[in-house]
Amino acid sequence: MPAVADMFSPLNANQRRFVDAVRAMGPEFQRRGFANDAEGKFPAANYADLKKHKLHAVNVPSRYGGLGGSYMDYGVFSAELARWDGATALTFNMHAATMMWSSVIVDDFDLPAEAKKKHEANRAKVYEKVVNEGAIFAQPFSEPNSAAAAGRAPFGTAAKRVDGGFVVSGTKHFASLAGYADYYAVVCTEEDKDGMHDVTNTVLIAVPAKANGVRLFGGWDVLGMRATDSRSLEFDDVFVPDENMLMPPGIYYQAAVKWPHMFVSLTPSYLGISQAAFDFTVAYLRGEAEGAPPAGGPRHSAAKQMAVAQMRIKLEQSKALWWKIMHEARMNPTKEERLRAYACQYTVMEHANEICQLGLRVCGGRSIFKNFLIERLYRDSRCGSLMLPWTAEICLERMGRESLFEPGEK
Ligand SMILES: Cc1cc2nc3c(=O)[nH]c(=O)nc-3n(C[C@H](O)[C@H](O)[C@H](O)COP(=O)(O)OP(=O)(O)OC[C@H]3O[C@@H](n4cnc5c(N)ncnc54)[C@H](O)[C@@H]3O)c2cc1C
Repeated sequence: MPAVADMFSPLNANQRRFVDAVRAMGPEFQRRGFANDAEGKFPAANYADLKKHKLHAVNVPSRYGGLGGSYMDYGVFSAELARWDGATALTFNMHAATMMWSSVIVDDFDLPAEAKKKHEANRAKVYEKVVNEGAIFAQPFSEPNSAAAAGRAPFGTAAKRVDGGFVVSGTKHFASLAGYADYYAVVCTEEDKDGMHDVTNTVLIAVPAKANGVRLFGGWDVLGMRATDSRSLEFDDVFVPDENMLMPPGIYYQAAVKWPHMFVSLTPSYLGISQAAFDFTVAYLRGEAEGAPPAGGPRHSAAKQMAVAQMRIKLEQSKALWWKIMHEARMNPTKEERLRAYACQYTVMEHANEICQLGLRVCGGRSIFKNFLIERLYRDSRCGSLMLPWTAEICLERMGRESLFEPGEK
């Protein structure tokens, strides 16, 4: 039994059900993680297991046949998933986020009746594909010009209106689930008469992975999160029907501004990694991790005990802040709540790597072999603070500036 049995409590009935389901599969996910990491292989078998339990529809509203999880339920589910396999959780975030953009987020906007009706029809088809056909959605937002994913410029991928839909052209990089997803939920800039200069013209469109003109390129031989298969994508005049619009026009841009907590959705992946690193370290020092030296002197050393205590403090800080901000997630949070969300993103991502560093140091030289989980956790954890739009630097910059300046002040 791991050192800390539950990451969070109290859990509601939905959360309990999701966590228990993941925990039953978790040890097998963790075992598969070693080969997936070594071979850079996407965790397809884990997705097959999630689908068997309908967990791939965790965030699809129940009226469409999904499990009806809220944003908070998703977070708890995802953290538990990451505790067993970070790459599965990180990639699953892309799918889950797509389900949430089109459901809970859109529902917070007061849409004109016609737009609402159209969106309702579109999303019913999307959820039908997920629930009945097992469809999985990737979320390639990032582009080689990172200003767009950081929210500072229009996306360079173009969506040109044509009869019955759009023609999509452009390049995305870091497209997790690249060779596995059935659809790519792509943010594009809709071209107007003058070109594509306006961020408010951002549209979110599901491009079928097998559509003509979709091409995967590049490799994914990387330091950490090696099983995410985040290769690059090129869209060369890809026709996408109107019904594949995942949000009504103009809503993605407004949601990105008014629903900032959606960008915290990657943190549970790194909270789970932090928990796994702590659990592993305790098991290793107690001589209970498979292949670890028998428990002996190290467990009695005050230096080791203090390092484990530091790991626990960082873990508790991450969890407490995360629990709080997830309860504050909603449309139009206050400034304090938004800045706290940045603080949480920064803390969880940085702590994940610091906890893993401490784990490796305190377990010692023998733990750097690849048959030990902590070695992979350490590499995977390094990726957290690199994720746009809320990298560590962007969070720091926004927290500092907005603490010192009120809107309109120079
Ligand atoms: C494992 C993994 C999986 C990923 N999966 C996906 C995915 O599925 N979908 C997706 O869309 N993206 C994904 N990404 C991409 C990720 O979100 C970023 O887009 C990517 O890491 C940016 O890399 P870059 O070299 O362009 O860095 P840059 O964005 O160029 O950043 C370089 C440095 O500059 C800093 N920086 C950048 N912009 C600013 C700014 N405006 N102000 C201050 N500092 C700034 C950054 O913090 C960083 O230190 C993934 C990344 C990783 C590592």
